Order: sequence, then C-alpha cells, then structure tokens
Amino acid sequence: MEEANRTTGKDFIREIIDQDLKEGRYREVKTRFPPEPNGYLHIGHAKSICLNFGIARDYQGTCNLRFDDTNPTKEEVEYVESIMEDVRWLGFQWDGLYYASDYFEQLYQWAEFLIQKGLAYVDDCSAEEISTMRGAPTEPGKPSPYRNRSVEENLDLFRRMRRGEFPDGSRVLRAKIDMNSPNLNMRDPVLYRIRRATHHRTGDTWCIYPLYDFAHGQSDAIEGITHSICTLEFENHRPLYDWFLEALELPHKPRQIEFARLNLSYTVMSKRKLLELVQEKIVTGWDDPRMPTISGLRRRGYTPEAIRTFAERIGVSKVNSLVDINFLEHCLREDLNKRAQRVMAVLYPLKVVITNYPEDQVEWFDAENNPEDPSAGTRKIPFCRELYIEQDDFMELPPKGYFRLSPGAEVRLKHAYYITCNEVIKDPSTGVPIELRCTYDPESRGGSTPDNRKVKGTLHWVSARHAVHAEVRLYDHLFTIEDPSDIPEGKDWKEFINRDSLKILTHCKVEPGLRDARPGDTFQFLRQGYFCADLKDHSSDHPVFNRTVTLKDTWSKILKKGNG
Ligand code: ATP
Ligand code: MG
Repeated sequence: MEEANRTTGKDFIREIIDQDLKEGRYREVKTRFPPEPNGYLHIGHAKSICLNFGIARDYQGTCNLRFDDTNPTKEEVEYVESIMEDVRWLGFQWDGLYYASDYFEQLYQWAEFLIQKGLAYVDDCSAEEISTMRGAPTEPGKPSPYRNRSVEENLDLFRRMRRGEFPDGSRVLRAKIDMNSPNLNMRDPVLYRIRRATHHRTGDTWCIYPLYDFAHGQSDAIEGITHSICTLEFENHRPLYDWFLEALELPHKPRQIEFARLNLSYTVMSKRKLLELVQEKIVTGWDDPRMPTISGLRRRGYTPEAIRTFAERIGVSKVNSLVDINFLEHCLREDLNKRAQRVMAVLYPLKVVITNYPEDQVEWFDAENNPEDPSAGTRKIPFCRELYIEQDDFMELPPKGYFRLSPGAEVRLKHAYYITCNEVIKDPSTGVPIELRCTYDPESRGGSTPDNRKVKGTLHWVSARHAVHAEVRLYDHLFTIEDPSDIPEGKDWKEFINRDSLKILTHCKVEPGLRDARPGDTFQFLRQGYFCADLKDHSSDHPVFNRTVTLKDTWSKILKKGNG
C-alpha cells in the first residue's frame, strides 16, 4: 500500500499537478485514459481509469477516453465496445471520445515536417538489421547506411511508402536523433512501418501506420492533455515523448508522468496472456468470472464501488509491486456487507424430517434482509416438516468442540426452532447419511426457550417443499502460484494454471424468494459467502449463482496482526 504525502495527504502525481498549477505551467487539468482496443479491460486498467478520471474530478478538469488504435492487426470493434461499457460501468463518463486513428493524416503531415527539417529518414534495412545496429546501452550503435539520404529522396520515398509502392516490411521511416544515446529509445526510433492490414476504423486507407511513440504524445498535444499518466515501462520513452513535441514545434506541451502498474497475486494482467486463456478455452470467455477483467469481475459479482475503493486505497507508487488479492476481496466484502440481501441456501443438501411437526403445516417466519441495514426490511420464509440442511453441518461421530448437528445433539435453526437429531438413515450401499430424523421443540419458536436452554450451533436451512433448485458455481484462483508473471526459469506460465478453479454444484436448494432474483443481483448466502445471479446463464427456470467471495476475510486478520 502506498503512503500519500503526510502533510497534504496527496499522492505524488497530485503533488506534481499542484506544483504545475502553482507555477502556471498549466491553467487547467486535462487527462485521458488511452487503451489500445486489443483486448478487454482488466483490474489494472481500472486503477488507471480511477486515477485519470479521479484527477479530472478533483481538479474540475476533464478526462478523455482515447483509443490508441495504431496497430490494426490486433484491434477490433468488439474491444472498443467492451471498453466503453466497462468505463461507464465503473461509474465514469468521458468528456471527449477520440481515436488515435483520427489523427493519422495529421501525424503523417508531421512526419513529412520532420523529414523537411532533416530529422527523419527512410531506412531500407530490415527490422533485424535495425535492431542489431541499434546496439546495447553500454556500446554505441551503428548508423544505418541510409541515414544521410537527402530530404528530397526521403520525401519521395516516404510519399511512395504511403501510396503503397513498396512491400510490407521493406522500408521504415526513422527519426534522426542520436545513435550513441545511452537510452536505446533515442537511437533513431522507427516512426512508420508498411503494413497492409485493414484497420477497424480507417479500413484500407492506409498501408503505413505510425508507431505508438510517434502517435501518443502528439495525440495528447492535439487534445490539449496536460498530464499524460502512464505506467513505468514508458519512463525511458519520456525523452522521446518530449523530443517529438519539441521537434514538431508544438505550442502545447503535455507532461508525461509514470506510475507503477498494478499486479495482483494469483492472476495475470497481460492482455496477451488473457487472450490466450480465452482462445485456448481455458476459461469460457473474457467475461469468465475467474478472469481479472472488468467484465469477469462484474459477472463474478463485484460492484463498481468495491473496485473504486480498492483502486483508491492501493494508491499510486513509483515502484512495481504485487498487491495481495485478499485485499481486493476485503474491499469487496466491505461493500457487499452493506448492500447484499441475506438469504438461506443449501449447497450440499441433507434431508431433515421433523417427525413431531404436523404433515400439512407451514409456518412463515420473519427474516431480516440485512442486519447492517434496517431499511432493507424483512421477508417471510416458510418452515415445514421436511427441510434441507448442509451435509457439513452434520457429523455422526463429532469431534470435541463440534457444535453442529450430531445424534442426540440439539441445534438452533436460524429464524425458526431448536431441533434434536434422533435417528440417522443411511444409504444401505454406501453408508452415507441421507436423512436425519429429528424432533423440534415448539417452545423454541424464534430462537430461544422459556427455560433459556443454551445451544451453541445455529444452522441455515431451507424448506424442502418450497425450495428452489439451483446451480451454484464456486470459483478459485486462476493460478496456483502467487506471482504467475514471475515464472521460474525454463517453465511455461501455463503450467501454473489452476485446473480446479471451477466447481459446479447442480443440486443446490435455495429459499423460494430467489426465484425472483434477476441476473446480477447479489446475495449473502448465510454462513457461506456472497453470491450473485449469473449475468448470462441465470433465469427463473434455471437459477445459476456465482460465488463472488467467501465470508472468511484473511485480510482483516493480516491487518490485526500487523497492528499487534
Ligand atoms: P498490455 O501490455 O497487457 O497490452 P497495456 O498496458 O498495453 O497492456 P493499454 O490498453 O495500452 O494496455 O493500457 C491503457 C492504459 O492503462 C495505459 O495508460 C496503461 O498504462 C494502463 N494500464 C495498463 N495495465 C495497467 C496496470 N496493470 N496497472 C495500471 N495501469 C495499467
Ligand atoms: Mg499499451
């Protein structure tokens, strides 16, 4: 977790912004969130979204959504649409909506301008040759034999590149900067390459495409962005970012600021790897509830509030680190605890027959919907002679300290009566208990007896006659190791995928009110965890609930320990 400045309470980015405003470098604050539409957004992007939109909000500035769509081979409209949906769902609304591809003509003109100034040249070397000649940081690079072409020849070749006279990969346009710079990014970076690929917006208009470095800063400048916030791997691109603004003589100069990307334990954040999980059907799609994508988290039952709180609390830092997924889950529980309706659901049913309860009788008990929120009200739940309880809540030979049901023991049924187990009926072939015959104490209605008899266990249950049959999906981490982006030498990251990350229970029994659950509704299944009706597969005919998170909060324990 990042410590903000002790006196101002602000993170280092907001401190820079304060300084810039104070010194008059900028008069207003304009940020942008610039995803490449080559995959779905993940929780790491959420951090960047909360940061950029949050800063715009705090400084009464603006924040644009800009698609960084300069690489047509990997980008698709499906991704553009999902990104817009996810940003909105997180609770943000962009001021301007832009596409780097809208600037292709302007960027091209700027490239010609650099050529005219003698600051760019067409290079006929292959990508491999260029990379070899670029050298290593400790030794100088070698200039390309084409480095000193005349302005006329460069202009002619670059125009013909645009017209499609040369095959893909045969030539590139490079900036002419410094082949001896200790920063490899400054050793004549490539600005344009020839690539015949249909772009999702510009179609086949272009066969040359600008590289990220030549597009990003200029797009920021066009939109009047003041603070261009990006992740640490771009730190050594900043001299180049500034060089273009200078060389192109752009009047408005945005400032690039880098922060550490979010890494979460037991998952990966690389779009390339997430795409592989999808393509190889290791997950059911980008929105699989095990995925760290925004759409996966949404389907899992995460709320935008929980994600925003998480992003705020982890803060921003200049050092990469791994955030414990338990902390994300802690933020989620905190939010769901306030809003989720409590219900009773039995995941592994075991039948209970109350032998002294009248066959045809039904009682409706009042149950509070949320003890944290009295305004959530109450609901009625039915009780009758045959019930289901959790298989785990019964043991024939209980160890010491087991307070749930066992032969001869008495427990409380939540909201209802005390029951005592008198007889266990077993499957004759397997010996597994299949039915418990119990009696109830009519005097214990509502959870206590006139003689104040103590029982230690309180169980959840559902009425067998009224129960709704449901499918419940239990999820576990996608990876078996804490940091799957740091794989031991010689191993493949896919070896660490958790092949048991999904368990489907098809015989669950839930209380009747859940028949009316709508996709996306969240609940606390008492004693078990938070669950939500699946956004895709749930219907009243076939209810499907995803386990969002269990009730056990390991993060709170860590916090308590830390505080002594
Ligand atoms: P990948 O390398 O997996 O494709 P990316 O960083 O290239 O991811 P972009 O679509 O370019 O993905 O990211 C859009 C914005 O979100 C960028 O400003 C980027 O710095 C930021 N971002 C991406 N991943 C993270 C992360 N894990 N933590 C914080 N910010 C992130
Ligand atoms: Mg990127």
